[in-house]
Amino acid sequence: MARSDPHSFFDDAQPRARHLDLELQADFATRRLAGFVRCNFDRSTGGRVDLDTRGLSIASVHDVHDEAIPFTLHAEGPILGQRLELALPPGTDAILIDFATSPNASGLQWLEPAQTDGRRHPFLFSQCQAIHARSLVPCQDSPRARLTYRAALTVPAPLVAVMAAASRGERAAAAGTRTFAFEMPQPIPPYLLALAVGDLASHDVGPRSRVWAEVGLVEAAAHEFAELESMLVAAESLFGPYEWERFDLLVLPPSFPYGGMENPRLTFLTPTLLAGDRSLVDVVVHELAHAWTGNLVTNASQEHFWLNEGATVWAERRILEALHGPEAAMMSWAVNQPSLDNAMARFGSASPLTRLRTELRGVDPDEVFSSIPYEKGARFLHVLELEVGRARFDAFMRAYMRRFRFTSITTEEFVEFLEAELPGAAAAVQANRWLYEPGMPATTPTLKRSARLDAVTAAAASWKSGRRPDAATVSAWSPTEMLLYLQHLPRPLSHEDCAWLAQQLELDGRRNAEIQVEWFTIAARSDYEPARPAIGGFLQRVGRLKYLRPLYGALMQSQRSQPFARKVFETASPGYHGTARRMVAAILDR
Ligand SMILES: [Zn+2]
Repeated sequence: MARSDPHSFFDDAQPRARHLDLELQADFATRRLAGFVRCNFDRSTGGRVDLDTRGLSIASVHDVHDEAIPFTLHAEGPILGQRLELALPPGTDAILIDFATSPNASGLQWLEPAQTDGRRHPFLFSQCQAIHARSLVPCQDSPRARLTYRAALTVPAPLVAVMAAASRGERAAAAGTRTFAFEMPQPIPPYLLALAVGDLASHDVGPRSRVWAEVGLVEAAAHEFAELESMLVAAESLFGPYEWERFDLLVLPPSFPYGGMENPRLTFLTPTLLAGDRSLVDVVVHELAHAWTGNLVTNASQEHFWLNEGATVWAERRILEALHGPEAAMMSWAVNQPSLDNAMARFGSASPLTRLRTELRGVDPDEVFSSIPYEKGARFLHVLELEVGRARFDAFMRAYMRRFRFTSITTEEFVEFLEAELPGAAAAVQANRWLYEPGMPATTPTLKRSARLDAVTAAAASWKSGRRPDAATVSAWSPTEMLLYLQHLPRPLSHEDCAWLAQQLELDGRRNAEIQVEWFTIAARSDYEPARPAIGGFLQRVGRLKYLRPLYGALMQSQRSQPFARKVFETASPGYHGTARRMVAAILDR
């Protein structure tokens, strides 16, 4: 197959690094991680080995006898970074590389104390998906090149380091520093390498779970995520044993660009989930589901990303149903429909980027990130479930997870397994249309609806004929129903209507970020100036991509709001993650 991943120099005809030993020191003054990595190959080898790097300084490469190994660091490419070409002498089974990361490493964000909750200490976190592990450590940065690792991370005292790995305690360290040791015994795709450093504390919330957060946030986080064990039990009853020993959470500062990242043993989360009423914990259920779909069975490359995300959204809604009943699952399908519709509209339903199986040679995966692999992917699995019946489909998914555990696979391998286990099902739902053709196929399932769901969308639909929900109706809505109502309102609205909404729905006092942002997009689209301070404040504070895109997008749709959007971005952007900064800049340039 040689180079089968369009986003990596990994060549599977070459020896593979099976295990890394990392020793790194974090220097907040220069914004660098520096140290060395030892790579153990899967066989004694010689000749050329290509590794992925981005922005790394490579000081030296040598073998375990300290003999120098010749290397070439090739020119920087726009998407893949720099190929590190090694010429190994015969009989090499391990190498050591001395290196340092760049202050602009695409997989790291270094935060000033002012960007944290405590405002006293700096913070560092990584985000390696999609193709950023190479900016932390030289590696074969393709999901097919799974590896185990051990790491020792030295940080300034009194800060705490955590990794998405088993803790191996704290080691003796030089004065003014602390060294934390970790081990990841299960083979992971490199994009699941993850670390964070900050003024962190933890609180146990279950027999195999604790919540990590900045000291001042840890109690609120422990309250919000108190139900982890029941989620684990529900998920295991559906998909089999949880294979990662611990399910801990880390709440990051608000610039974290994603809702959650399924780093094994330690899921990374945005603090925008801290609604106070546990109304946004479905993101945690999603990250938990990844323990099976994504982390255990992994996409072979970004071209098969739907295998990670579509399967996880499907699994997430099955767990939600097991925990809270069919109504909760129905609501989840319904409130996520607009994100699918918006992504289809953004690309155009004839765009090849709306296929499930994509072709991404020459394409930066961060730039084409959207809801399509998530929501279209989940609908594809759901239509298969409807076709063969739930019992048979559940058995199929369990068999799939067993068959491909700790491997990284392609869409084609999925289809082959599907045909073997459920002959004829693929043809019956026109699987090829879902996978290889753009847009939504004719076999798209009609999702089940409940009376409550219909009541909320009917209330929104009657807005145009002047009908408004009374106070009793509004106060009986769950946060998800409130969100659904706002999603279905027409826009722009008159300023009078915006004022009515803000007051009747008490929108200024809402802590649920999904409701806040939906309201802000209505207000922004409607050029409703009284909401501007709140919108500006939110955009200054929060760097989650899911919110930045619709908010800046809505502001830019009105001539009058455009200068406001640009001004907010100018002051907010230094605090955004690099991926967020690039995405918003593109929206403002359009
Ligand atoms: Zn996911």
